[in-house]
Amino acid sequence: MNLTQLVLASHNAGKLKELQAMLGDSVRLRSVGEFSQVEPQETGLSFVENAILKARNAARICGMPALADDSGLAVDFLGGAPGIYSARYADGKGDAANNAKLLDALKDVPDAERGAQFVCVLALVRHADDPLPILCEGLWHGRILHAASGEQGFGYDPLFWVPERSVSSAELSPADKNQISHRARAMALLRQRLGLK
Ligand code: IMP
Repeated sequence: MNLTQLVLASHNAGKLKELQAMLGDSVRLRSVGEFSQVEPQETGLSFVENAILKARNAARICGMPALADDSGLAVDFLGGAPGIYSARYADGKGDAANNAKLLDALKDVPDAERGAQFVCVLALVRHADDPLPILCEGLWHGRILHAASGEQGFGYDPLFWVPERSVSSAELSPADKNQISHRARAMALLRQRLGLK
């Protein structure tokens, strides 16, 4: 697929910057916010469904190929929760409340059963009704700590133990996290699929 620009189905300037850096310079990401402030209802039950839904919506609004990401934390002991509800796990009360709720849900659960993964699904559609979206999934395996540790990052980073570095993901530098995270893994697959070097 020969692309020079893609609309990103996100209003978050930080996310656009991060994904643009991972994608490289040959494809320019533009924000759907340049075209519309209306955000679609994320009615899917999976990361894949929500990523496709957001990408289709952006392609429809902007009339150009669109990329969407959907991400979150899936905890094995909780059957994959908070999953697609990661951002609003504690009813929209924010990161600290989300983390407190997760710690409470895993109270007394031993280390061996605290496995979890950060998940990122990227969906790219060439147009709103594309029957063959490109889907790239990045999983980052770790486990949930018993207490928060580290100041970097956001969301569940202080509770996520990264075995390959022996630190929490909130103790990684942003540059290091961007090399190994779920988003980095999904983006590496997308670059391959698009034939980007
Ligand atoms: P979004 O899809 O990037 O908006 O992320 C959804 C939610 O998943 C965030 O609000 C966080 O709670 C969680 N999440 C996703 N990626 C990360 C990460 O890299 N670190 C910590 N939390 C994350």
